Amino acid sequence: MGLNKLTNRIYFLEHAPEVDRPMLAYLKGDKISLAIDAGYSASHVQDFYRAIEAEQFNKPDFTVITHWHYDHTFGMHAINGISIAYGKTNEFLKDQQEQAKNLNYIEILKKEDIHFRKEYCGQDKLSIVLSDITFSDKMTLDLGGITAQIFHTISPHSEDTTCVYVPEEKVLFLGDSTSEDFFNNGYMDKDKLYSLVQTIQSIDCKYCILSHCEPLSKEDLLAYLLSVEA
Ligand SMILES: [Zn+2]
Repeated sequence: MGLNKLTNRIYFLEHAPEVDRPMLAYLKGDKISLAIDAGYSASHVQDFYRAIEAEQFNKPDFTVITHWHYDHTFGMHAINGISIAYGKTNEFLKDQQEQAKNLNYIEILKKEDIHFRKEYCGQDKLSIVLSDITFSDKMTLDLGGITAQIFHTISPHSEDTTCVYVPEEKVLFLGDSTSEDFFNNGYMDKDKLYSLVQTIQSIDCKYCILSHCEPLSKEDLLAYLLSVEA
């Protein structure tokens, strides 16, 4: 699978529903390249980097994490360059590290999640790491020609939600933030969803990118979210 081009400087490896892999994005600045999310596993990272190299691009200098869930973070040990995450994301990952001290943890995850079982088929070890850089509210990276505005926001999906806005390309990356909270029995907190909708409305973007969907227009996403909220 190769990279898809979204805009002039934004590419992505498509999400893979069969294994529940999220899409991984590649922001190509003149100076710095930034990946969004590390991915599910070392093999997910390798597939992404193979697609990047096929375009003759450099491997990402930085990788920013949208939230702690394993399909977005368990590949972090295998990335090139420096990783960036919201403080709370690292707290969740630290808790995952603790749980993984139980060597059966990988088997427990395989039992609970058929996608995890497929992604980690034949493997008996997890490697869970925290990010190199932690931010507390927001940070901006000047990639050269484009900027990545990285910020924490309230969302119904997870407490550590991080979004990335690229104003020059009018693209907003939302991770899984618009979904319900799978770790709280799939609860959809409508107040948090409303807060997120207001955040999205306030941002001047053309595309809204959810990790497990095709790219959406801002209007289509907002129309959908407002129907969920009603
Ligand atoms: Zn998630």
